[in-house]
Amino acid sequence: MCRKDLFFVCSVWMLFAMSAVAAEPMKALIIDGQNNHDWKQTTPILKKLLEETGLFTVDVITSPPKGAEMSRFAPKFTDYDVVVSNYNGAPWSEATKRALVEYVSQGGGLVIYHAADNAFPKWEEYNEMIAIGGWGGRNEKSGPYLVWRDGKAVLDTSPGKGGGHGPRRDFLITIRNADHPITRGLPPAFMHYSDELYSWLRGPAKNVTILATSFSDKKYRGSGEHEPMLMAIRLGKGRVFHTALGHSGPQCQSVAFIATFQRGTEWAATGNVTQKVPKDFPGPDAPVLRK
Ligand code: ZN
Repeated sequence: MCRKDLFFVCSVWMLFAMSAVAAEPMKALIIDGQNNHDWKQTTPILKKLLEETGLFTVDVITSPPKGAEMSRFAPKFTDYDVVVSNYNGAPWSEATKRALVEYVSQGGGLVIYHAADNAFPKWEEYNEMIAIGGWGGRNEKSGPYLVWRDGKAVLDTSPGKGGGHGPRRDFLITIRNADHPITRGLPPAFMHYSDELYSWLRGPAKNVTILATSFSDKKYRGSGEHEPMLMAIRLGKGRVFHTALGHSGPQCQSVAFIATFQRGTEWAATGNVTQKVPKDFPGPDAPVLRK
């Protein structure tokens, strides 16, 4: 083969190879703008974590600030494969609420990140999408507590507050469903870094799969229950990944948070997880931080 022919064959082959690997990235939208948490710190971290998977391009939409008119806040959910909520603030317009419910029930993906499960205590379909939530006046009228007892998920209708946590500490996360795309291949138990262990969450708790729990020890002002930390929820054709983890910047350096957030977001977008478990994923003894 002469040099010219070889060049031609190589070029064609390279073009073919490039088109085979370079699949279109998916589109993710992070919503922020109001939160009792430092969303200005965490949104750029979440954005970077999704971008570094190579699977997503990420847009951010920031709502008007607290107290401002909300009626024109209308993200175009249907432009995205997955929507990540870092929002815990004023109610949205009826039209925007309806648009999110429709987007998810028609097959869209939603990720509920940490304090996003504090949001919208009165919005019925939102509470169905998150399964359980806390604070905002939630109580037995919001639905049962969802906990893990004797090897299974239990709905506890006892009266009482919705939402609480003790002081921040490292805690162990235990997988309760190892045969889900998000958890498949993860070690059965692994340590997370210095976070709030969300407890006493309650809500409709329908169509929810508990993926992983942590023990909320009374010794640390906890509930004495194994509390859901990672959940997968179905609404119509859509998928919701709910992570109770990731209070602020340092917690988002914990590989237990990072990898489960990245995997959960991919699952919410597609129903599948193609990411490998990272080599630095923690085991049960100590958390691992990526700085
Ligand atoms: Zn928090």
